[in-house]
Amino acid sequence: MAKIQMKTPLVEMDGDEMTRIIWQMIKDILLIPYVDLKTEYYDLGLVERNNTNDQVTVDSAEATKKYGVAVKCATITPNAARMTEYDLKEMWKSPNGTIRAILDGTVFRTPIIVKGITPYIPTWTKPITIARHAYGDVYKNSELKVKQGTKCELVATDASGNEVRELIYDFADSDGIIQGMHNKDKSIASFARSCFNFALDTNQDIWFATKDTISKKYDHTFKDIFQEIYDTEYKEKFEKAGIEYFYTLIDDAVARVVRSEGGYIWACKNYDGDVMSDMVATAYGSLAMMTSVLVSPDGVYEYEAAHGTVQRHYYKHLKGEETSTNSVATLFAWTGALRKRGELDETPELCKFADNLEKATIQTIEEGVMTGDLYALSKLENKQKVNTEDFLRAVDERLKKLM
Ligand code: NAP
Ligand code: MG
Repeated sequence: MAKIQMKTPLVEMDGDEMTRIIWQMIKDILLIPYVDLKTEYYDLGLVERNNTNDQVTVDSAEATKKYGVAVKCATITPNAARMTEYDLKEMWKSPNGTIRAILDGTVFRTPIIVKGITPYIPTWTKPITIARHAYGDVYKNSELKVKQGTKCELVATDASGNEVRELIYDFADSDGIIQGMHNKDKSIASFARSCFNFALDTNQDIWFATKDTISKKYDHTFKDIFQEIYDTEYKEKFEKAGIEYFYTLIDDAVARVVRSEGGYIWACKNYDGDVMSDMVATAYGSLAMMTSVLVSPDGVYEYEAAHGTVQRHYYKHLKGEETSTNSVATLFAWTGALRKRGELDETPELCKFADNLEKATIQTIEEGVMTGDLYALSKLENKQKVNTEDFLRAVDERLKKLM
């Protein structure tokens, strides 16, 4: 059978540890035999980042801007232990942070749902996608511990030197704590556009919620910017697509989310997104079944798995022991990127291939063949635990039948 052709390359960002091993297996077993894979390859493994003083990360993000689509393997974010393990010149920053800053994107996380694994909230029969605004607020705050007798004010000095002051609190009777934080209209607007584009792209409703009743300027500005961009740029497109944008108070949103059946995007401010994405991921069962895509406001897409490099499994692998690591989220990063490439290049065969590969993967698990993490969760009776490679081979058997 002739291989499926690609018109334009996609950017391939290789990574670290167990996911690097899985990356190669996916390519060898499930992609290269079927697709004439055109990628511009960047090695974001820690060794190469250290060799290039992290320039390779910046280059990969610039290439993503150029080509519009990237697929990324999980990478190590160095800490003190990694400094010695890899003999690093510097404690390089998180590649995801660097890429996100260059693409100015929003991260959307979506669980992959399979029969046999029931979410802890059993009414969630469709995925809930969390969109997290990844700029500012408490993540870029200034904070102080202050002594009794301290009067604390917010002071803003404008370009002409005019000062505005606002009392935070007069600590007359106790020591205390204060915190200052910010966000930028520009960043909120980018976030809103990424969210609305992604809703159109995936044909799903989008919900946004803040605490605007209490935070009448800060949170209210988020609400206002979303509404204005929606009304002027997206309302008609949404109506045409038959999807809805809806704003509500965060308290109301959490109640509705719990009662819902899923199937929408939930846009969250930075802190809410941090916390809620962990809650949603846990409720759906496994981090290894969570996909992630970074979408920039001008329509650039970078796909990856939400989990890390699965270090514990990698050390087992290095000792020659068998591993049963779940490759599904990494596999879906590839299918997401290939489908998007196919959409942009108008090569429906590539989209079809991505659909078939996803179908074969889900079918494999639903027929009872799965890795250890899912084996522990699945309620199927005929389930069978397989190793990392055998899972991919089982997917390939089913893929062949679909092609
Ligand atoms: P992790 O790699 O996500 O793994 C945490 C644990 O979750 C694993 O030990 C494993 O549990 C389970 N797990 C995660 N993915 C799995 C999979 N695909 N199949 C089976 N089990 C899976 O997180 P971490 O151990 O905290 O971080 C390891 C490295 O990844 C760190 O260096 C961190 O910087 C990096 N990281 C990268 C990204 C990214 O690139 N996006 C994200 C997060 C972390 P058991 O051990 O119990 O089997
Ligand atoms: Mg978190």
